[in-house]
Amino acid sequence: MTIETFFRSESRAMRFPEVLISEVGPRDGLQSVATTMPTDAKLRWIEAMHRSGIREIEVASFVPARLLPQMADAADVVRRATQLQGLTVMALVPNRKGAEAALAAGVHKLTVPVSASVAHSLANVRKTREQMVEELRAIADLRRERAPGVPLEAGISTAFGCTLQGEVPEDEVIRLAVQCVEAGADEAGLSDTVGYANPAQVRRLFRRLRAELGERAGAAHMHNTRGLGLANCLAAYEEGVRTFDASQGGLGGCPYAPGASGNVVTEDLVFMFEAMGVATGVDLDRLMSARAALMAGLPGEPVYGMTPEAGLPKGFVQGAAHV
Ligand code: ZN
Repeated sequence: MTIETFFRSESRAMRFPEVLISEVGPRDGLQSVATTMPTDAKLRWIEAMHRSGIREIEVASFVPARLLPQMADAADVVRRATQLQGLTVMALVPNRKGAEAALAAGVHKLTVPVSASVAHSLANVRKTREQMVEELRAIADLRRERAPGVPLEAGISTAFGCTLQGEVPEDEVIRLAVQCVEAGADEAGLSDTVGYANPAQVRRLFRRLRAELGERAGAAHMHNTRGLGLANCLAAYEEGVRTFDASQGGLGGCPYAPGASGNVVTEDLVFMFEAMGVATGVDLDRLMSARAALMAGLPGEPVYGMTPEAGLPKGFVQGAAHV
């Protein structure tokens, strides 16, 4: 799905967005904190982000509740989030069963994690990479039968390294991404699940990905574990990537990748792009106000972000850079 499709119905006074900020906090963030955010609180947070202009949110993960009790209300969250106008409601599904439940709940877009690291794949989904590609094929077949209009994305996790395995060969990452698209994914993006990536590596891998997949090269999902999240997003942007995953308050990590922490902070990412004159479609003041809903739903949980703490620069006018 192109970015134009997301925003066609918008009548915002702001400029036409040039990048799509895909918020993953309600899934990636909430699954990595011990506390379970109540369903109503999740919806208040999702609504607050939607009000700020966020137009794609990964709201849940369809996994067994005994594995991730934080996601036990996935179907309910999807159903309620789809009531929000103009919002693409996305869910993570690790297998066909999860995809069935997500589609039954009315999800708009599916994302399937396929790990490039042999060790992480076994730890995360108890499947080899090859078995995961077959699972993706089964999900793609199901999607074709039941909901042909629902885009299916493969997220190549541990694409830049792995806390369990260490180095992940770049050739294997690219080959896996191509296999995912051949198996039926509409696009394949690259995830720095554990925060090992550096900008030179990001440029190299996204350049190769785009050379192989063209417009089917998907999102950049960067973590800020070593403080390079924004630098890596910028490197991906310069290679032509236009969809960026981020998490409000920098929540997130991976329950099966020890030491993984912190997705790139949505507020900081939006600030970076807007300050550069790259329109995101997101109102920064409203986005920062949405943090209150996150904090209310997770009392005591630390939230991160440099821009929210420092405030906007004196005289900063959003969208002014291109006016
Ligand atoms: Zn993440």
